[in-house]
Amino acid sequence: MKKINTPKIGFVSLGCAKALVDSERIITQLRAEGYEIVPTYQEADLVIINTCGFINEAIQESLDTIEEALIENGKVIVTGCLGARKVTILENYPTVLAITGPHAYQEVMEAVHKNLPAPHDPVADLIPKQGIKLTPPHYAYLKISEGCSHHCSYCIIPELRGPLVSRPIGEILHEAENLVEAGVKELLVISQDTGAYGSDINFKNDFYLGKTLKTDLFNLAEQLSQFNSWIRLHYLYPYKSIDNILPLMAENKILPYLDIPFQHSNKRILNLMQRPASGEDNLKRIETWRKMCPDMTIRSTFIVGFPGETDQEFEELLTFLKEAQLDRVGCFKYSHVKGAKANDLPNYIPETIKEERLAQFMQVQAEISANKLAKKIGKTIEVMIDEVNEDHLVGRSKADAPEVDGNVFIEGKYNRIPGDIISVTVDQADEYDLFGRVAE
Ligand code: SF4
Repeated sequence: MKKINTPKIGFVSLGCAKALVDSERIITQLRAEGYEIVPTYQEADLVIINTCGFINEAIQESLDTIEEALIENGKVIVTGCLGARKVTILENYPTVLAITGPHAYQEVMEAVHKNLPAPHDPVADLIPKQGIKLTPPHYAYLKISEGCSHHCSYCIIPELRGPLVSRPIGEILHEAENLVEAGVKELLVISQDTGAYGSDINFKNDFYLGKTLKTDLFNLAEQLSQFNSWIRLHYLYPYKSIDNILPLMAENKILPYLDIPFQHSNKRILNLMQRPASGEDNLKRIETWRKMCPDMTIRSTFIVGFPGETDQEFEELLTFLKEAQLDRVGCFKYSHVKGAKANDLPNYIPETIKEERLAQFMQVQAEISANKLAKKIGKTIEVMIDEVNEDHLVGRSKADAPEVDGNVFIEGKYNRIPGDIISVTVDQADEYDLFGRVAE
């Protein structure tokens, strides 16, 4: 039976998958110490907000959430990327109890202990070996490093999260093993710069189950492929070393899915953005990858309206998009982020032009995406079920990451559970999603 005096914490997790992993670690620790996590401000003795500080919209959302929590509850601890900007928060909300930066688990716990002491009777045995996950039970994010050692001119993440720090390969593999044992069917490998994994520690050796392993992405991916789970890699840059992991994708050991944020195609703009691997001929790289692994899905993101982007440079980007025939694409309008070097660049692009460019870009990509998905009609594909409804299932193919890509909709009532993998024959497609039936 629940104890009346169990200290209760409300937790709001904002931002990207990397922030979500930070939230999971804090919540795991809170639960291990006997705190209860509650879903409303009213039930909570104290609220923790894990904030995002990446773009202006995200900063505003974080500030609004702090304000809401202060009004509704009054006792608020702020952590995460925006927490690195203490002054901004204190200027707006001087009554917050404590502010810490990202991945500062220890400091968050200290602030909690100070303001809401832990119960005398911790219920550590109630914590599952894999920790507390905020994702559905059948998939989980696996964070392999913290921080980033690049200096993209529009980004302040290195300032907020520090330089790249890779986790030991053995520790990651143990975590993956626990997750798979607990029923996870898909591991999503994340970091700020997945391809650079191990470079900060000179790819030094570590141990897993008595085996010596070099800390690099190939070894990590190969070891992960032995678990009974889909393995999806996110946030790779077009480094030459990426070619090494392509055979693992071609052999279906890990998902044939490359998530590579190109951001632009024009060399001058890429130089102004100070992007990693900006000197690569990306169309050639894409051709090579597709030769090595014909079933490859390539996902990317782009920024339009970067300061000084001319009409011609934008046209070049559209031409690149048409030639690259990428499978999944996200696009953002450039916006200033407080503290980013790109703010000082001349020729800021007016909002109306940025809007037009974004619409044009998305129109071009929507046609590409529709054509590519139409080619799947009549084919039978493997689908992981995410949702079971009364009259239909919602799932994803190997080409679709959760949250960011498309879905596969299957009409009918089936006795299935999330995480099941079934064969589906595709009957219809639109710009983003597929519609099909369970294969005979
Ligand atoms: S690679 Fe660039 S955009 Fe990505 S986190 Fe590092 S600095 Fe930011």
